Amino acid sequence: MPFNANTKARMFIKSARICCLCYKPCGTNIEAAHIIAEADGGSNADDNGIPLCFDCHQEIGGYDVRHPKGNKFTDIELKSRRDKVYELVENGVLQAQLVTSQLRTNSNSVHQHNSNIEINTYKPTKEVKVIIELALNQSTRPENIPLKLQLLNEREQAFVIDTLTEKFDNSESLNSLFAIIISENFNEKSLVILEQILRKVTILMDIDLKRDFMCNVPIDILKTTDEGLRIAFFTELIGILEQNQFAEVNKITGCLTKIQESIPEVLVDRYFKALIRMTDSGAWQAQPIAKRILLSLDKELAKRALSQIDKELLIYDYKKDYYPKLIEQHKKNWPKDKKELFDNYLILEKQEFNIKYMMQ
Ligand SMILES: [Zn+2]
Repeated sequence: MPFNANTKARMFIKSARICCLCYKPCGTNIEAAHIIAEADGGSNADDNGIPLCFDCHQEIGGYDVRHPKGNKFTDIELKSRRDKVYELVENGVLQAQLVTSQLRTNSNSVHQHNSNIEINTYKPTKEVKVIIELALNQSTRPENIPLKLQLLNEREQAFVIDTLTEKFDNSESLNSLFAIIISENFNEKSLVILEQILRKVTILMDIDLKRDFMCNVPIDILKTTDEGLRIAFFTELIGILEQNQFAEVNKITGCLTKIQESIPEVLVDRYFKALIRMTDSGAWQAQPIAKRILLSLDKELAKRALSQIDKELLIYDYKKDYYPKLIEQHKKNWPKDKKELFDNYLILEKQEFNIKYMMQ
Protein backbone atom coordinates (compact mmCIF):
# COMPACT_ATOMS: atom_id res chain seq x y z
CA MET A 1 0.00 0.00 0.00
CA PRO A 2 1.28 3.48 -0.72
CA PHE A 3 1.08 6.36 1.75
CA ASN A 4 -2.39 7.82 2.00
CA ALA A 5 -3.15 11.23 0.55
CA ASN A 6 -3.06 13.07 3.88
CA THR A 7 0.29 11.61 4.85
CA LYS A 8 1.74 12.58 1.50
CA ALA A 9 0.34 16.09 1.73
CA ARG A 10 1.96 16.55 5.15
CA MET A 11 5.30 15.30 3.85
CA PHE A 12 5.25 17.56 0.80
CA ILE A 13 4.34 20.59 2.86
CA LYS A 14 7.10 19.88 5.33
CA SER A 15 9.71 19.52 2.59
CA ALA A 16 8.27 22.33 0.44
CA ARG A 17 8.38 19.74 -2.37
CA ILE A 18 12.15 19.78 -2.23
CA CYS A 19 13.85 16.42 -2.78
CA CYS A 20 15.47 15.39 0.50
CA LEU A 21 18.49 13.83 -1.21
CA CYS A 22 19.44 16.19 -4.02
CA TYR A 23 17.58 19.36 -2.88
CA LYS A 24 15.97 19.84 -6.24
CA PRO A 25 12.73 21.83 -6.07
CA CYS A 26 10.42 19.24 -7.65
CA GLY A 27 6.96 20.74 -8.07
CA THR A 28 4.69 17.92 -9.22
CA ASN A 29 7.63 15.61 -9.92
CA ILE A 30 7.93 14.50 -6.34
CA GLU A 31 7.15 11.17 -4.70
CA ALA A 32 6.70 9.87 -1.19
CA ALA A 33 9.22 7.06 -0.79
CA HIS A 34 9.35 4.45 1.95
CA ILE A 35 12.48 4.58 4.07
CA ILE A 36 12.02 0.98 5.17
CA ALA A 37 10.32 -0.86 2.31
CA GLU A 38 6.89 -2.29 2.96
CA ALA A 39 8.24 -5.72 2.01
CA ASP A 40 10.61 -5.38 4.98
CA GLY A 41 7.83 -4.42 7.37
CA GLY A 42 8.05 -0.65 6.87
CA SER A 43 4.90 1.21 7.85
CA ASN A 44 2.86 3.84 6.04
CA ALA A 45 3.27 6.36 8.84
CA ASP A 46 4.81 9.80 8.29
CA ASP A 47 7.99 8.78 10.03
CA ASN A 48 8.74 6.10 7.45
CA GLY A 49 8.36 8.45 4.50
CA ILE A 50 10.79 10.69 2.66
CA PRO A 51 9.94 13.08 -0.18
CA LEU A 52 12.17 12.38 -3.19
CA CYS A 53 12.47 13.32 -6.84
CA PHE A 54 12.02 10.53 -9.38
CA ASP A 55 15.75 10.07 -9.92
CA CYS A 56 16.59 9.80 -6.24
CA HIS A 57 13.64 7.50 -5.61
CA GLN A 58 14.91 5.19 -8.28
CA GLU A 59 18.36 5.30 -6.81
CA ILE A 60 17.31 4.30 -3.31
CA GLY A 61 14.89 1.76 -4.78
CA GLY A 62 17.80 -0.01 -6.43
CA TYR A 63 19.45 -0.45 -3.11
CA ASP A 64 19.07 -3.68 -1.22
CA VAL A 65 20.43 -4.34 2.26
CA ARG A 66 20.71 -8.02 1.54
CA HIS A 67 23.12 -7.25 -1.29
CA PRO A 68 25.12 -4.39 0.09
CA LYS A 69 26.97 -3.72 -3.14
CA GLY A 70 26.35 -0.10 -4.14
CA ASN A 71 24.58 0.35 -0.85
CA LYS A 72 24.30 4.08 -0.44
CA PHE A 73 21.88 5.12 2.24
CA THR A 74 20.92 3.47 5.50
CA ASP A 75 17.47 4.16 6.93
CA ILE A 76 19.03 6.22 9.71
CA GLU A 77 20.81 8.34 7.16
CA LEU A 78 17.67 8.83 5.08
CA LYS A 79 15.73 9.91 8.13
CA SER A 80 18.37 12.36 9.25
CA ARG A 81 18.57 13.88 5.76
CA ARG A 82 14.81 14.19 5.68
CA ASP A 83 14.62 15.77 9.13
CA LYS A 84 17.33 18.26 8.23
CA VAL A 85 15.37 19.33 5.16
CA TYR A 86 12.14 19.59 7.19
CA GLU A 87 13.96 21.69 9.75
CA LEU A 88 15.50 24.04 7.20
CA VAL A 89 12.19 24.42 5.41
CA GLU A 90 10.44 25.10 8.69
CA ASN A 91 12.70 27.98 9.58
CA GLY A 92 12.56 29.26 6.03
CA VAL A 93 16.21 28.77 5.20
CA LEU A 94 15.92 26.29 2.39
CA GLN A 95 13.06 27.93 0.54
CA ALA A 96 14.59 31.37 0.81
CA GLN A 97 17.81 29.95 -0.55
CA LEU A 98 16.13 28.25 -3.46
CA VAL A 99 14.23 31.35 -4.39
CA THR A 100 17.22 33.66 -4.23
CA SER A 101 19.52 31.30 -6.05
CA GLN A 102 16.83 30.84 -8.71
CA LEU A 103 16.48 34.57 -9.14
CA ARG A 104 20.19 35.09 -9.29
CA THR A 105 20.59 32.23 -11.74
CA ASN A 106 18.45 34.01 -14.28
CA SER A 107 20.62 37.09 -14.23
CA ASN A 108 23.85 35.31 -13.72
CA SER A 109 24.28 32.18 -15.81
CA VAL A 110 25.44 30.09 -12.87
CA HIS A 111 22.91 27.32 -13.11
CA GLN A 112 20.90 25.60 -10.47
CA HIS A 113 20.00 21.96 -11.15
CA ASN A 114 17.00 22.15 -13.41
CA SER A 115 16.58 25.81 -13.89
CA ASN A 116 18.08 26.05 -17.32
CA ILE A 117 17.29 23.76 -20.20
CA GLU A 118 20.53 24.63 -21.90
CA ILE A 119 22.50 22.85 -19.24
CA ASN A 120 20.68 19.60 -19.84
CA THR A 121 21.37 19.61 -23.54
CA TYR A 122 24.88 20.99 -23.25
CA LYS A 123 27.56 18.40 -23.95
CA PRO A 124 30.86 19.21 -22.25
CA THR A 125 33.95 19.13 -24.44
CA LYS A 126 36.90 16.97 -23.53
CA GLU A 127 38.72 20.07 -22.33
CA VAL A 128 35.89 20.92 -19.96
CA LYS A 129 35.83 17.38 -18.58
CA VAL A 130 39.57 17.52 -17.97
CA ILE A 131 39.25 20.72 -15.93
CA ILE A 132 36.46 19.22 -13.84
CA GLU A 133 38.59 16.14 -13.25
CA LEU A 134 41.51 18.32 -12.20
CA ALA A 135 39.43 20.41 -9.81
CA LEU A 136 38.03 17.32 -8.15
CA ASN A 137 41.39 15.58 -8.17
CA GLN A 138 43.20 15.55 -4.90
CA SER A 139 46.64 16.38 -6.25
CA THR A 140 45.71 19.54 -8.14
CA ARG A 141 46.97 22.93 -7.02
CA PRO A 142 43.72 24.81 -6.47
CA GLU A 143 45.03 28.16 -7.71
CA ASN A 144 45.48 26.65 -11.19
CA ILE A 145 41.76 26.06 -11.60
CA PRO A 146 40.61 29.68 -12.13
CA LEU A 147 43.45 30.18 -14.63
CA LYS A 148 42.29 27.21 -16.65
CA LEU A 149 38.65 28.26 -16.37
CA GLN A 150 39.47 31.63 -17.86
CA LEU A 151 40.32 29.96 -21.14
CA LEU A 152 36.77 28.65 -21.54
CA ASN A 153 33.70 30.44 -22.84
CA GLU A 154 31.00 31.56 -20.46
CA ARG A 155 28.71 28.59 -20.93
CA GLU A 156 31.57 26.18 -20.36
CA GLN A 157 32.65 28.05 -17.25
CA ALA A 158 29.12 27.90 -15.89
CA PHE A 159 29.01 24.17 -16.54
CA VAL A 160 32.31 23.56 -14.74
CA ILE A 161 31.31 25.67 -11.72
CA ASP A 162 27.90 24.05 -11.58
CA THR A 163 29.35 20.56 -11.75
CA LEU A 164 31.90 21.36 -9.05
CA THR A 165 29.36 22.83 -6.63
CA GLU A 166 27.25 19.74 -7.17
CA LYS A 167 30.00 17.15 -6.87
CA PHE A 168 32.57 18.47 -4.42
CA ASP A 169 32.98 16.10 -1.51
CA ASN A 170 36.48 16.56 -0.16
CA SER A 171 38.77 19.25 1.06
CA GLU A 172 40.70 19.47 -2.21
CA SER A 173 37.71 20.09 -4.42
CA LEU A 174 36.45 22.57 -1.84
CA ASN A 175 39.72 24.44 -2.17
CA SER A 176 39.37 24.48 -5.96
CA LEU A 177 36.02 26.18 -5.51
CA PHE A 178 37.45 28.68 -3.02
CA ALA A 179 40.23 29.48 -5.50
CA ILE A 180 37.58 30.27 -8.11
CA ILE A 181 35.66 32.44 -5.67
CA ILE A 182 38.62 34.60 -4.72
CA SER A 183 39.98 35.03 -8.22
CA GLU A 184 39.17 38.43 -9.71
CA ASN A 185 37.63 37.04 -12.85
CA PHE A 186 34.81 35.39 -10.98
CA ASN A 187 34.02 38.25 -8.61
CA GLU A 188 30.43 38.59 -9.72
CA LYS A 189 29.65 34.95 -9.18
CA SER A 190 31.50 34.43 -5.92
CA LEU A 191 28.56 35.08 -3.61
CA VAL A 192 26.20 32.74 -5.46
CA ILE A 193 28.80 30.00 -5.56
CA LEU A 194 29.69 30.36 -1.90
CA GLU A 195 26.03 30.23 -0.88
CA GLN A 196 25.59 27.00 -2.82
CA ILE A 197 28.66 25.56 -1.15
CA LEU A 198 27.53 26.69 2.28
CA ARG A 199 24.09 25.15 1.82
CA LYS A 200 25.58 21.85 0.79
CA VAL A 201 28.19 21.82 3.54
CA THR A 202 25.50 22.57 6.13
CA ILE A 203 23.17 19.79 5.08
CA LEU A 204 25.36 17.08 3.70
CA MET A 205 28.90 17.24 4.89
CA ASP A 206 30.57 15.54 7.82
CA ILE A 207 32.42 17.31 10.57
CA ASP A 208 35.81 17.03 8.86
CA LEU A 209 34.63 18.83 5.77
CA LYS A 210 32.86 21.43 7.87
CA ARG A 211 36.17 22.07 9.59
CA ASP A 212 38.01 22.34 6.27
CA PHE A 213 35.33 24.70 5.05
CA MET A 214 35.75 26.96 8.08
CA CYS A 215 39.53 26.96 7.92
CA ASN A 216 39.73 27.92 4.25
CA VAL A 217 36.61 29.88 3.39
CA PRO A 218 37.24 33.50 2.33
CA ILE A 219 35.71 35.23 5.34
CA ASP A 220 34.96 38.55 3.64
CA ILE A 221 32.63 36.81 1.22
CA LEU A 222 31.23 34.53 3.90
CA LYS A 223 30.17 37.60 5.89
CA THR A 224 28.02 38.78 2.97
CA THR A 225 26.18 35.48 2.46
CA ASP A 226 22.52 35.16 3.36
CA GLU A 227 22.03 35.38 7.10
CA GLY A 228 19.51 32.53 7.27
CA LEU A 229 22.01 30.26 5.64
CA ARG A 230 24.69 31.22 8.13
CA ILE A 231 22.28 30.71 11.00
CA ALA A 232 21.66 27.14 9.86
CA PHE A 233 25.38 26.50 9.52
CA PHE A 234 26.54 28.00 12.81
CA THR A 235 23.63 26.70 14.88
CA GLU A 236 24.88 23.17 14.41
CA LEU A 237 28.49 24.05 15.20
CA ILE A 238 27.68 26.05 18.30
CA GLY A 239 25.50 23.11 19.35
CA ILE A 240 28.60 20.94 19.12
CA LEU A 241 30.51 23.33 21.40
CA GLU A 242 27.65 23.26 23.86
CA GLN A 243 27.54 19.48 23.96
CA ASN A 244 31.28 19.43 24.48
CA GLN A 245 32.00 16.08 22.82
CA PHE A 246 35.77 16.16 23.02
CA ALA A 247 36.61 14.59 19.67
CA GLU A 248 34.33 16.95 17.79
CA VAL A 249 35.10 20.16 19.63
CA ASN A 250 38.81 19.45 19.30
CA LYS A 251 38.28 19.28 15.56
CA ILE A 252 36.21 22.41 15.03
CA THR A 253 37.02 24.97 17.70
CA GLY A 254 40.18 26.40 16.15
CA CYS A 255 38.66 26.89 12.73
CA LEU A 256 35.39 28.17 14.12
CA THR A 257 37.13 30.91 16.10
CA LYS A 258 38.90 32.03 12.91
CA ILE A 259 35.59 32.92 11.30
CA GLN A 260 33.76 34.07 14.43
CA GLU A 261 33.18 37.51 12.88
CA SER A 262 30.78 35.93 10.41
CA ILE A 263 28.56 34.40 13.09
CA PRO A 264 25.11 35.98 12.76
CA GLU A 265 24.15 38.44 15.48
CA VAL A 266 21.41 36.21 16.93
CA LEU A 267 23.97 33.50 17.72
CA VAL A 268 26.79 35.61 19.13
CA ASP A 269 25.75 35.35 22.78
CA ARG A 270 25.27 31.59 22.53
CA TYR A 271 28.64 31.28 20.87
CA PHE A 272 30.48 33.18 23.59
CA LYS A 273 28.66 31.35 26.33
CA ALA A 274 29.78 28.06 24.82
CA LEU A 275 33.31 29.34 24.36
CA ILE A 276 33.50 30.48 27.98
CA ARG A 277 32.32 27.06 29.19
CA MET A 278 34.92 25.51 26.91
CA THR A 279 37.72 27.11 28.97
CA ASP A 280 36.84 24.65 31.71
CA SER A 281 36.48 21.65 29.42
CA GLY A 282 38.66 18.55 29.26
CA ALA A 283 38.97 18.88 25.50
CA TRP A 284 42.73 19.17 25.26
CA GLN A 285 42.91 21.00 21.94
CA ALA A 286 39.78 23.12 22.16
CA GLN A 287 40.26 24.34 25.72
CA PRO A 288 43.51 26.29 25.24
CA ILE A 289 42.17 27.77 22.00
CA ALA A 290 39.04 29.01 23.75
CA LYS A 291 41.16 30.54 26.50
CA ARG A 292 43.46 32.30 24.09
CA ILE A 293 40.69 33.63 21.84
CA LEU A 294 38.70 35.05 24.75
CA LEU A 295 41.75 36.85 26.12
CA SER A 296 42.45 38.49 22.78
CA LEU A 297 38.97 39.79 21.91
CA ASP A 298 38.55 43.39 20.84
CA LYS A 299 36.52 45.85 22.89
CA GLU A 300 33.06 45.18 21.50
CA LEU A 301 33.37 41.41 21.42
CA ALA A 302 34.92 41.36 24.89
CA LYS A 303 31.84 43.12 26.18
CA ARG A 304 29.59 40.56 24.52
CA ALA A 305 31.65 37.69 25.89
CA LEU A 306 31.87 39.00 29.45
CA SER A 307 28.12 39.54 29.57
CA GLN A 308 27.85 35.75 29.34
CA ILE A 309 29.72 35.24 32.61
CA ASP A 310 27.16 34.79 35.37
CA LYS A 311 27.43 34.31 39.11
CA GLU A 312 26.84 30.53 38.86
CA LEU A 313 29.87 30.17 36.67
CA LEU A 314 32.01 32.09 39.16
CA ILE A 315 30.59 30.30 42.21
CA TYR A 316 31.56 26.95 40.73
CA ASP A 317 34.94 28.16 39.59
CA TYR A 318 36.96 26.31 42.20
CA LYS A 319 40.32 26.78 40.56
CA LYS A 320 39.97 30.53 40.36
CA ASP A 321 42.73 30.55 37.82
CA TYR A 322 41.51 31.51 34.37
CA TYR A 323 38.41 33.62 34.99
CA PRO A 324 40.23 36.21 37.12
CA LYS A 325 42.72 36.58 34.27
CA LEU A 326 39.97 36.95 31.70
CA ILE A 327 38.03 39.45 33.75
CA GLU A 328 41.13 41.52 34.55
CA GLN A 329 42.25 41.48 30.96
CA HIS A 330 39.05 43.15 29.79
CA LYS A 331 38.65 45.45 32.78
CA LYS A 332 37.95 48.44 30.52
CA ASN A 333 35.16 46.63 28.74
CA TRP A 334 33.06 45.23 31.55
CA PRO A 335 29.35 45.40 30.86
CA LYS A 336 27.83 47.84 33.39
CA ASP A 337 25.55 45.29 34.99
CA LYS A 338 28.51 43.00 35.74
CA LYS A 339 30.69 45.53 37.47
CA GLU A 340 29.71 44.70 41.02
CA LEU A 341 29.85 40.95 40.42
CA PHE A 342 33.30 41.14 38.85
CA ASP A 343 34.66 43.49 41.49
CA ASN A 344 33.52 41.21 44.27
CA TYR A 345 34.81 38.16 42.47
CA LEU A 346 38.27 39.68 42.17
CA ILE A 347 38.41 41.16 45.67
CA LEU A 348 36.62 38.70 47.93
CA GLU A 349 37.95 35.41 49.21
CA LYS A 350 36.37 32.47 47.43
CA GLN A 351 34.27 31.50 50.43
CA GLU A 352 33.05 35.01 51.10
CA PHE A 353 32.12 35.45 47.47
CA ASN A 354 30.18 32.21 47.41
CA ILE A 355 28.27 32.97 50.58
CA LYS A 356 27.35 36.39 49.29
CA TYR A 357 26.14 35.23 45.89
CA MET A 358 24.61 31.89 46.78
CA MET A 359 22.16 33.74 48.99
CA GLN A 360 20.95 36.00 46.21
ZN1 LIG B 1 16.45 14.08 -5.88
